[in-house]
Amino acid sequence: MEDWRRDIGKSLGTYLEGKLAMGEEMAAHTSYRIGGSADVFVEMESVEDLQNVARFLAEHPKVPWQILGGGTNVLYPEHYRGVVIHPGKGLSKIKKKEDRVIAGAGAELLEVIKQAAEWSLGGMDFLAGIPGSVGGALKGNAGAFGRWISECVELVRGFDLAERVERELKNQEIEWSYRKTNLRAALFIYEIVLKLEPRPIMECMHEISRVLSERMAKNPSEPSAGCVFVNPEPPDVTAGRLIDELGFKGRRIGDAMCSPQHANFIVNVGKATQADVLTLITEIKKAVKERFGYDLVEEIKIIRETMEEHNG
Ligand SMILES: Cc1cc2nc3c(=O)[nH]c(=O)nc-3n(C[C@H](O)[C@H](O)[C@H](O)COP(=O)(O)OP(=O)(O)OC[C@H]3O[C@@H](n4cnc5c(N)ncnc54)[C@H](O)[C@@H]3O)c2cc1C
Repeated sequence: MEDWRRDIGKSLGTYLEGKLAMGEEMAAHTSYRIGGSADVFVEMESVEDLQNVARFLAEHPKVPWQILGGGTNVLYPEHYRGVVIHPGKGLSKIKKKEDRVIAGAGAELLEVIKQAAEWSLGGMDFLAGIPGSVGGALKGNAGAFGRWISECVELVRGFDLAERVERELKNQEIEWSYRKTNLRAALFIYEIVLKLEPRPIMECMHEISRVLSERMAKNPSEPSAGCVFVNPEPPDVTAGRLIDELGFKGRRIGDAMCSPQHANFIVNVGKATQADVLTLITEIKKAVKERFGYDLVEEIKIIRETMEEHNG
């Protein structure tokens, strides 16, 4: 075992408020239920924890690391040879201030929406049912029904793990696009201020239930990471339709299957591995390029064994 792994308990563990685990199984942290062990998994309970991790990473510049939220948009390998940095309970609190909701990045998006409704605040109900954390949703500008989380965001607080500084960004300072923001990959988002609209609680609850039932009817129930590909330009063509037209629905590699319900979902029907999913992705991309001329681009984040995601 390399030195940094052997010493991490002493060099980092003793300073952290949050949990530090060696060999954590990533399948348990992802909606895909795919992924073997990560060398180190740490949970951040405070900005101080973020400072301590950043110091450790600066002292060990060759150690790969990656930020993980709710794990609903990621595909892990059999072994991740680095540090996975995840928000813990201390960075998952939900608070209210006038018509604003202040959410810790680790809070589940649906919990934030429901809690806001209980405070008679609405306006982000269209996001109900998008799984994962509010931090992950913000990082990827999660959206549904032609609307985006960016519509509700006032302020983002983060800690840059590479530059070791806190950052506060107003909505207008962020570039938002389809499933994308220009936030640096090294920025650990730890808190988001959401500006919502006062609405009767029953109206919010009704809208949440309506959106949730619509989603349940549409999304496959097997483990997945959501849509695999972003829709190509121009936006009137969906990746799902192209894949469906090529007859991929039901196509299976190992335990990874192109969903018979929604062609842009590759579902895990048993013990799929990252390699199974990637092989199917390659087949689909090749076929779509040959037949329609589109270069499909992955929406899911593919985590490689020694990938460093913090250079952005
Ligand atoms: C069944 C299903 C349906 C889905 N439907 C939709 C949909 O309708 N619309 C949609 O937009 N998405 C959808 N998704 C995809 C996914 O749920 C969203 O992208 C979600 O917002 C990801 O959040 P997460 O916390 O799980 O992020 P993760 O999967 O944990 O991470 C995704 C990316 O965000 C980064 N990240 C996560 N947390 C932070 C943080 N605190 N600070 C900095 N970076 C961070 C990670 O490093 C990674 O690059 C769906 C997924 C599933 C499984």
